[in-house]
Amino acid sequence: MSTTSFKCPNCGAAITYVPGTEHTKCPYCLSAHTLDALIAKQKEEATKAQQSEIQERKPEIDQSALREYICNSCGAQVVTDETTSSTICYYCHNPVIINDRISGEFLPDKIVPFQIDRDAAVERFLKWARSKRYVPKDFTSPSNLEKITGIYLPYWVANAQAEMDIVGRGENSRSWRTGDTEYTETKIYQFERQGTIEVNNISELAYSKFDKDLLRSIEPYKAKQKRDFALPYLTGFFAERYDIGRQDVEGRLDERARRYALSLARDSYSKYSNVRTEREQVDTQIVSWEYTLLPVWVLTYHYGSKTYVYAMNGQTGEAFGELPLNNRKLALTSGVLFAAVAILVTLGGWLIW
Ligand SMILES: [Zn+2]
Ligand SMILES: [Zn+2]
Repeated sequence: MSTTSFKCPNCGAAITYVPGTEHTKCPYCLSAHTLDALIAKQKEEATKAQQSEIQERKPEIDQSALREYICNSCGAQVVTDETTSSTICYYCHNPVIINDRISGEFLPDKIVPFQIDRDAAVERFLKWARSKRYVPKDFTSPSNLEKITGIYLPYWVANAQAEMDIVGRGENSRSWRTGDTEYTETKIYQFERQGTIEVNNISELAYSKFDKDLLRSIEPYKAKQKRDFALPYLTGFFAERYDIGRQDVEGRLDERARRYALSLARDSYSKYSNVRTEREQVDTQIVSWEYTLLPVWVLTYHYGSKTYVYAMNGQTGEAFGELPLNNRKLALTSGVLFAAVAILVTLGGWLIW
């Protein structure tokens, strides 16, 4: 199975992406290299490799199903989970990217790169753990901290359009008293809401092996830092490819777009009382998809007979953890993954509310 390892152009050591930047850093000679330069170099090498592959005429096999790869730093045969697309070699600890799991249908459109580096993640975790009582001692031991892992998880992100046609009536009343007489004035309004709403960045986890509810509690991500996908963002981090297809989340995303559009509409006439709608038609359609990788720092901890998971949003630092000896429930939120939801409500170019 073919792999990619980003090596330092100066000294040949394996290099890793530096969170929050557009470059990598070599841990040995400390030189920095821009992602653009690395992408150009990697393309050149891939073309060369392709040419030699054609000459060799390898037999056709489904490489995505293979679990083993050969580390191109130390030559060890390494077994991975079949969805892992970026990992770290068990033997030599060099980052390795498994090409077949990050190309073709598995090539991401977008990525939110890590903004929080390992040291910052560890520091935030310690601060959190130390603020709690009754935490087992080895919970914050150096060997446990080593297990904090930066991982990119796959999401389906959809942009949807909602065609809206709503007609209804509402009232506004006021009452007052003069002497013995009470007066009530009721104004009746007819309202219409027609137009198109764009609901962008609605998303669903595309990976079955991670607890969706846990991830919900560290959302949202900011769409502002979404970038076009580039391979060097992965180096030094783990990544998974999707194992839940787009068709399996489409219905849910469509429904969410519909509910969101409807709630926006209802907000706009919530100032009336006794609202009755004569027509309430909302038709949604997903107009584009972005297969997106989002960054998470994860620590799993075995204690007693249970596994506890601590997860931190790799972009914002928002964290959620189950604590040993503590029965805190998950804070579930529903809704939209990205905080910045771009909404356009237009009717012939005019905002309708
Ligand atoms: Zn170097
Ligand atoms: Zn190796």
